[in-house]
Amino acid sequence: MRLFKPLAAMLLAGIVAAPLSSGQAQDYPNNTITVIVPFSAGGPTDTVTRLVAEAMSANLGQQVIVENVGGAGGTVGAARAAKAEPDGYTLLLHHIGMATSATLYRKLPYDPKTAFAPVGLVTEVPMVLIARKDFPPNNLQELITYVKEHKDEVTYANAGIGAASHLCGMLFMQAIQTPLTTVPYKGTGPAMTDLIGGQVDFLCDQTTNTTNQIKAGEVKAYGVFTDQRLANLPDLPTVKEGGVDGLSFAIWHGLYAPAGTPEPVVARLSEALKVALADPKVIERFGELGTAPVPADQATPAALQAKVLSEIDRWKPVIEQAGEYAD
Ligand code: ASP
Repeated sequence: MRLFKPLAAMLLAGIVAAPLSSGQAQDYPNNTITVIVPFSAGGPTDTVTRLVAEAMSANLGQQVIVENVGGAGGTVGAARAAKAEPDGYTLLLHHIGMATSATLYRKLPYDPKTAFAPVGLVTEVPMVLIARKDFPPNNLQELITYVKEHKDEVTYANAGIGAASHLCGMLFMQAIQTPLTTVPYKGTGPAMTDLIGGQVDFLCDQTTNTTNQIKAGEVKAYGVFTDQRLANLPDLPTVKEGGVDGLSFAIWHGLYAPAGTPEPVVARLSEALKVALADPKVIERFGELGTAPVPADQATPAALQAKVLSEIDRWKPVIEQAGEYAD
């Protein structure tokens, strides 16, 4: 009996973690929740996450805070989340990079297929091609001619191998058959600052980070990578209209917990995510940024799991064909 006393005292004092019982899962959450964003503050993933975190916080009755862990195209932050305690207090909001990094990195410290307990899809965000406002070309065809002629001088920003900006740039360079010098950042938030400051020439980024800058005339926009023009940027042609075919994709985002998180906790998070995505303020803000929340049936663990698996399969041959690996 005496032997067990210190352990009981430590458990009461919270020094030793006790396994999560179903009772504790029912109490969930009773503490602050941290969502890791695997890119810098001020970028598109950060913007989406902060809007969703605030709305989830209201539903969960606990603070949901954001921690930015940028680096290596999102894989540093994802690795941190994969290793976190699977108790529902550390989550990850990542985008399409969860799937592309599975092929881009031959060695990852986590397996994107098994290291996470998916909570649900969040949104699919369009991408646009933009440049510093005094970049000479005025439309997509002029841009292509210009970068081909100045391919040793022009600089293309991205958020590292595995980022959406990397994928978009890789596909664009492949389409115009011109390799360019890339400048990697820890997120497209700081890349945008440098673009506006004229330190880099051009960039592909989500509308959640580019809409305001395009509308304010702080950057030049050449095209959107969607089949249709966007309602909030109606003057911006699609890349297809600009003469480049076959480049249509959207940047899907998902919310994850580490694998091993109790199922009732994941279910509670998914419920809160659904409520957050139906919040009129979230819908309005997403709309202003050129996107929309996914329908409720997509904000589920099953939908996100299916998306991760199908997108790994979708991008694997494309990346293999490009022959571009991070390691
Ligand atoms: N979404 C950006 C990208 O993947 C990074 C970021 O969110 O800052 O390029």
